[in-house]
Amino acid sequence: MALPKRRHYKARSKKRRANWKVEAPTIVACHNCHEPKLAHHVCPSCGYYKDRKVIEVSS
Ligand SMILES: [Zn+2]
Repeated sequence: MALPKRRHYKARSKKRRANWKVEAPTIVACHNCHEPKLAHHVCPSCGYYKDRKVIEVSS
């Protein structure tokens, strides 16, 4: 009987195209202005990140 020459690693099966999925971006409410924003991103409406103003937003 034919046998595989090398071990087939778990990572090999896991990264197969069939396992590639699109994920919806995580949207959270901003701590400062409570506007919806992307998680781990600077808030586009008030410019705050982690309770600190990091960019100036012109409105
Ligand atoms: Zn904000």
